[in-house]
Amino acid sequence: MTVERTDVLVIGGGVLGCATAYHLARRGRDVLVVERGQSNREASGASAGTLHVQMPGPYFRAHYDQGVSVGDRARLAATDQLYAEAARRWRTLEAVLGADLGVRLHGGLTVAETAEGLAALERKSRLERPFGIQTEILGVPDLRAMAPCLSARLAGAAYCAEEGFANPLLVAPAYLRAASSLGARYRLDTRVDAIESRAGGGFVVHTPPGRIGAGRIVCAAGAQTEAIAAMVGLDLPVQPHPLQVMATERCAPVLSPLVQHGERRLSLRQTPHGTFVIGGGWPALTGDATGPSSPMAGSITGSARVAVDVLPCLQRLRLVRAWAALTTATSPGNRVGIIGQSGRAPGFFVLVSSGWGFTLSPVLGEVAAELASDAVPSLRVEAFEPERCVGEGRG
Ligand SMILES: Cc1cc2nc3c(=O)[nH]c(=O)nc-3n(C[C@H](O)[C@H](O)[C@H](O)COP(=O)(O)OP(=O)(O)OC[C@H]3O[C@@H](n4cnc5c(N)ncnc54)[C@H](O)[C@@H]3O)c2cc1C
Repeated sequence: MTVERTDVLVIGGGVLGCATAYHLARRGRDVLVVERGQSNREASGASAGTLHVQMPGPYFRAHYDQGVSVGDRARLAATDQLYAEAARRWRTLEAVLGADLGVRLHGGLTVAETAEGLAALERKSRLERPFGIQTEILGVPDLRAMAPCLSARLAGAAYCAEEGFANPLLVAPAYLRAASSLGARYRLDTRVDAIESRAGGGFVVHTPPGRIGAGRIVCAAGAQTEAIAAMVGLDLPVQPHPLQVMATERCAPVLSPLVQHGERRLSLRQTPHGTFVIGGGWPALTGDATGPSSPMAGSITGSARVAVDVLPCLQRLRLVRAWAALTTATSPGNRVGIIGQSGRAPGFFVLVSSGWGFTLSPVLGEVAAELASDAVPSLRVEAFEPERCVGEGRG
């Protein structure tokens, strides 16, 4: 027996599902979020909370340093407009949602340890500028003036004024509260087990508490996207990746910008409470694609080594916590994810990020809500439609 009905069903109560629900509710849509556990307990709550705008240095070296094809240029333009717009949204998000999200936009440094590394950052900066991403190359004196606590051995940095960080524990809950104040409903501990497509359109969604009739579905199920898309016959290239982050004890404030490394795995920020959050894509352990992840000893030591090389005062601080979760990747050249409806499953909209979904949540949630409402999307996302991405991510 169908126990509940909704116009739009959002599967997943992470930051992308909650942001989508908020924007759907703002549009006056009848929306129900179903979450198999508790909201914000998976990738979104585990995020390091860093807000990126400039292309990560290792990503540039891997994909674009040897040249950029015409196809790459189109995707870069589409990618960079989303990152630039996300940065603008973060400036006002606390006011829009009426909540403290711990947003600090004090800029971001991608540091280089060698002259060769700095030259690569200059090439990266030249590539990004025409796409609207402004970075300034800082030599040693300017870098030391901006962040005197960083290692004297650094050769320079690419500085992007729009970058920063927010508190990942606060963002999805604020979206969900705002969505719910606009009439959105949500069901926790409600796992989607199967989806039937109805002949005349719409879906019947099976969950342990009962069936839900839905006109449309937005699948924002993070690492479970592939399994849920398969329920409607879609084969999407979404790979789960276990990643870890760690935090130190508190100390007096010394670092205000976000710090990343141009060649090594590092994202580093000091929270308003004084702790340092250290991430940067270090792998964690997981049993399988659905199970919990846990930090890996080698990643803890490797991550700490890079962090201390860049910020030597960290050597005096104790690590107090490390945690892990599954993030998602689509294809190697895709820094956004998959967003949109597949022609093979009308009414089923996919929203999954490729690595930096916390940063992009304000724009991806809004665009997903527009697409699921048949509105013209306010930002261009054709490059990330399911049909374009199918076949790309299979190795
Ligand atoms: C350790 C780590 C650090 C990161 N750091 C950053 C960072 O600093 N900056 C950045 O921009 N990005 C970062 N990311 C990436 C970012 O966190 C993710 O891209 C983003 O949170 C994805 O949000 P989501 O809502 O799609 O996924 P999730 O938060 O994983 O939410 C998906 C939800 O779907 C639910 N679900 C799954 N299956 C079902 C089902 N069958 N029925 C009902 N519900 C279901 C899950 O329980 C989950 O709550 C990091 C990721 C990790 C893992």
